[in-house]
Parts: sequence; structure tokens; C-alpha cells
Amino acid sequence: MNILKLKDEITALKEKHNAIILAHNYQLDEVQEIADYTGDSFGLSKLAASTTADVIVFCGVKFMAESAYILSPEKTVLQPDLKAGCPLAESINPEELQAKKEEYPEAAVVCYVNSSAEIKALSDICCTSSNAAGIVNSLEENQVLFVPDKNLADYVAGNTEKEIIPWDGCCATHNAVTAADVHELRNLYPDGIVTVHPECRPEVIALADHVGSTAEMIRFAKETDSEKIIIGTEMGTLYKLKKDNPDKKFYLLSRELVCSDMKLNNLEKIKAALETMQHQVTVPENIRKAAFRSLDRMLQVKTNKTSYCQL
Ligand code: SF4
Repeated sequence: MNILKLKDEITALKEKHNAIILAHNYQLDEVQEIADYTGDSFGLSKLAASTTADVIVFCGVKFMAESAYILSPEKTVLQPDLKAGCPLAESINPEELQAKKEEYPEAAVVCYVNSSAEIKALSDICCTSSNAAGIVNSLEENQVLFVPDKNLADYVAGNTEKEIIPWDGCCATHNAVTAADVHELRNLYPDGIVTVHPECRPEVIALADHVGSTAEMIRFAKETDSEKIIIGTEMGTLYKLKKDNPDKKFYLLSRELVCSDMKLNNLEKIKAALETMQHQVTVPENIRKAAFRSLDRMLQVKTNKTSYCQL
């Protein structure tokens, strides 16, 4: 189908249903282009809750659409492709977390927002990749069970006096970057500056010049004087980085930095979602309320930063 016609049809359907399209920074370029807002998962969910739109088309993976619903259950939250899951979020289930909590009854449970609604519901508080250390340091408990990302847990452990007990999960996409990749790119671009996501391995983080969430990387790229920036996060982020900084050069740390789940949504599926009002993402009310408490408790700590961008 003609791409311009497809975009026009999506725009008309958005108006008909009072809908907005939210796209995570890792989505295909064509999806980010048509989105009303791009950003990271929690920034987009907060935005979903504050908009007057009745329908949210969330182009990301399942836990993100769930978070949008948790914060705004009165809205219809659509996920264009239900197969888009997150292997990191799926690396822990409620039974496993319950067993771990019984093993460490004194520990506070902190869960990264890249987790299912059930895991959020069983946790004391949520965190994002940008506020994780601040959230952990705000707690009274000295022992913290940190789920599900072991690399983010390790990064937090380096920024707190508390004992961190990590869950053994990781994002396969970010975990694929190696220290050898950093050395190779530094050799190729010796005047380049390296920024990586905290889901990367500790040895990669140790070699970087800057560590941050995707939203922080986007800010960093704008602010740095360096004109060559080596990027350690999913390749979709290059869309916004290049758009914001046409005079700078960006280099991906590894060809492995592609999340196949994030690439499942496309324009045809967005159009189908708006035509059929499918696939609706909801969360049972008891789980939603408990998960909301964990997210809301995080917001009360006030270390979080705005993390979405209006296009
Ligand atoms: Fe999950 Fe990693 Fe893909 Fe993000 S990039 S959705 S954390 S697997």
C-alpha cells in the first residue's frame, strides 16, 4: 500500500477515535515518524495518563502497554502486535518472586519497570533505569531484592551502601555488547564519546564515558560538544538522535543491538489496531491496584525525570 495513503488513513482513524500513538524509542523509524510522542516506557505511560485521548495505541512491548493501563484504566490501551513481549520481563514469574521474598523476608523488593504487572504488584516499589539508585537509597531497608535485571542491579550496587540481591535476568539485546566492542569502536573513532544503557554488562559500563536511560542518552547527545557519539543501546534510538542532531555522527556499539520484539509493530498493524480496536491490553483490577501502588510510591520519591518527547 502507498505509505502516504496509509499514514492519512491512520490520521483519520486517530481523529475518529480520539486516539494518540505512543512509540518507544526502540520502534521502527516509520512508527516513530507517525507517533504523537516518542520516549521511554515509563515516560510514555505517564503521558498516556495525562492526555485527554480516549484511546492509546502503545507501540512498544507488552509490559509497557500494561503500565499505561495500570496508570489510566479508564482509557482503551491498544497494542498493535500482541506477540511483542520482553524476554527480560519474562525472566521472572510471580511464584519465583514469592519464593525469593520468603528467602529474604527483611529485604525491600524493588522492580525495574521492565517487568510484568504481576511482578510490579508483588514489589514494594518500582524504578526506572534513570532513578534506580535514587529509589534504592530512599528506602529504609538495608537489604534490597532487585528484579529482574542483574546488570542494572550491579550498576545500582555501585551507587549505594545497601546490600543488593540481584535477580538473574538480563536484556539479551544490551547484554550482547562486550568490552571488546567498546575497544573496537574507540579504536575506530578515537575522538568519539561512548554512552551506554545501564542494562549493559558491568565491564561495558566501566569503559563508557556516560551511562544513562535512552532519554538521558538523547539529552546527553544534544548537550555534549563531541561530534562523534558511540551508542550502547537499541538501534531504534538512532532515529531520534539523528533527527535532533543532524550535524553529529552516531555509531552503534554492536550489530547485536536490535530487539526483535520491538520491531514487530508497523504501520499496517497500527491501522488494523485502530480499525478493530484490538488488541486491548488490560490487567485484573486486584493486580492493577497493587502494581499502581508500586509505581505511585516511586513517583512520590521524586527522583524521576521527564522522559518523553513531543514530535
Ligand atoms: Fe526487553 Fe531488552 Fe527488548 Fe527492551 S530491548 S524490550 S528490555 S528485550
